[in-house]
Amino acid sequence: MTGAGASRACRAAADPPSGPCQGPVLVTGGTGYIGSHTCVCLQAAGYAVLVVDDLSNSGRGVLDAIAGISGTMPLFECADVRDAEAIDRIVARHRPVAAIHFAGVKSVAESSRSPAMYYDINVGGSLCLLKAMARQAPPRIVFSSSATVYGEPEHLPLRESHPLHPESAYGRSKMMVELVLEDVCTADTGASVVALRYFNPVGAHASGELGESPRGIPENLMPYLGRVASGLASRLSVFGDNYPTPDGTCIRDYVHVMDLAAAHVAALRLVLHAPGFHVANIGSGTGISVLELIDAYSAACGRALDYEVVGRRPGDVACYYADPTVARHLLGWTAQRDVHQMCADAHRYATSAAASRASRPAAGRTTPAAGIHARRAGRISGIPVERAGAGTGPGMDASL
Ligand code: NAD
Ligand code: UDP
Repeated sequence: MTGAGASRACRAAADPPSGPCQGPVLVTGGTGYIGSHTCVCLQAAGYAVLVVDDLSNSGRGVLDAIAGISGTMPLFECADVRDAEAIDRIVARHRPVAAIHFAGVKSVAESSRSPAMYYDINVGGSLCLLKAMARQAPPRIVFSSSATVYGEPEHLPLRESHPLHPESAYGRSKMMVELVLEDVCTADTGASVVALRYFNPVGAHASGELGESPRGIPENLMPYLGRVASGLASRLSVFGDNYPTPDGTCIRDYVHVMDLAAAHVAALRLVLHAPGFHVANIGSGTGISVLELIDAYSAACGRALDYEVVGRRPGDVACYYADPTVARHLLGWTAQRDVHQMCADAHRYATSAAASRASRPAAGRTTPAAGIHARRAGRISGIPVERAGAGTGPGMDASL
């Protein structure tokens, strides 16, 4: 997509900034998957961008891709967000108007193996950034939170008021940061924070120049489908088809990364104008099963992708999806792109030269024992599900 195209893609969420901007928007983790797409949208919306990233899970080439799409090279500082001295120096030098804080680690499984590292990077890094921002002015921060803060759903769709009982160190690290930021906004009436609870970000920029490039073999469904579609893996392992859902496979709320990026531009506008602590789900409100995603990806790449059903992945929740009403009212944001566009854009990137450049050697991936797949009608038992309203699951029975 050209710069003009990127601009069109983002316009729905934010007009160009009004009034004098004293400094750039600091984007930690701006060369990562979601951060890079957000940089494109921020620049298209007229904001100057300063990326701070230690490149632990991304490469400098992403900066060129952002510049190629938007026509502007963002400012860049290579630093670890836990390096208080470096972050203080960067904030003092550039005097950012606000920060969008993506930098962190994000694997639920890894967080169970290395919890201290997760708290150090996700909580410690957030505190460092917060303190540096607060030294200059009342902090204005858009924070990358996650739907994992909810844990096992007590009712669907998930609203922001749903109790928080995250089940992993990763989820708890996100909840802790939310709590800290809320307390800061209570103590400092000039502070403003929007915590965005992402559901399942997927897809890529329509140019094929930016996308998700996980190190090693991907653990997540969409990037793994990309490997199967591009011939790097022979088939997908579907982790369980005996869940209490209509086709037996798990249901998630996938949201296109460019829609997610647009949500950050909208959230930035809010933190620039409205003090206080705000939280919003960022999801489409629609549940998609694993088999439905395989079908959509198969249609996007023009061939039926092979899969086999294997055992359940430990810790997987059968079904969750967002109620995105708060995002609509608070941010004026709703997801625009459907699952077909998510798959088409993900596939374009998975088979692009940019993805090959970004790919790195990987270790083997183990899968649970194989089973037999049989599609069948089912129900999401045990969870109250609302039929009407913003959140809609596939074929869900309101009586459940
Ligand atoms: P990503 O790994 O692609 O991007 C994170 C970026 O942060 C990378 O460029 C990495 O190099 C950088 N980084 C990591 N630790 C750092 C540190 N200590 N100092 C400076 N930079 C550091 O991840 P992403 O998918 O773009 O996720 C961005 C944020 O969104 C994360 O906080 C993640 O927890 C959150 N989130 C992601 C998802 C998802 O499915 N991708 C879902 C919910 C929430
Ligand atoms: N999944 C799968 N095979 C894979 C990767 C994921 O069947 O190779 C399933 C997984 O069990 C879950 C869904 O796809 O039900 C989404 O998984 P992902 O890891 O992408 O997101 P998360 O579970 O973190 O929401």
